[in-house]
Amino acid sequence: MADSCLFCKIARREIPATLVAETEDCIAFRDINPQAPVHVLIVPRTHVPSLNEATDAAMIGRLSLMAAEIAKREGIADRGYRTVLNTNAEAGQTVFHLHLHLLGGRPMTWPPG
Ligand code: 5GP
Ligand code: ZN
Repeated sequence: MADSCLFCKIARREIPATLVAETEDCIAFRDINPQAPVHVLIVPRTHVPSLNEATDAAMIGRLSLMAAEIAKREGIADRGYRTVLNTNAEAGQTVFHLHLHLLGGRPMTWPPG
C-alpha cells in the first residue's frame, strides 16, 4: 500500500510538491487544489490510512503543532485559521494517507459544507 500511496511518494520525494516544512516524522506541502490563500497539508511520513487507524498520540499532536508553526510563519496565526482532518467517505477524504489540512487567509464559515 505504502508503495503506491500518493502521500508516501511525496514524503519520499518521488513525486514533486511545494514543501513548506519537514521534520523527522512529518512533512508539509501546499495543496495542489487550494481552497484558501493558505492551504497546506501536514502529513506523517509513516503510512496511516486515516484517523481510525492512528495509534501514535504524539505524532497526531505534532501534526497540530506543525500547523500552528506554519500558520505563524505564513502570517495568519493572529487572524485565524482552520485545521481539518477528514476521515472516510462522509467527511470527503479522498487520499487515504492521514493528513491535516491547514486553511487560512480568508474568513471561514461555520458549519462547514
Ligand atoms: P482529503 O480530501 O483526502 O481530505 O484531501 C486530499 C487533498 O489532497 C485534497 O485537498 C487535494 O487537493 C490534495 N491533493 C491530491 N493530490 C495531490 C497532489 O498530487 N499533490 C498535492 N500537493 N496535493 C494533492
Ligand atoms: Zn501513504
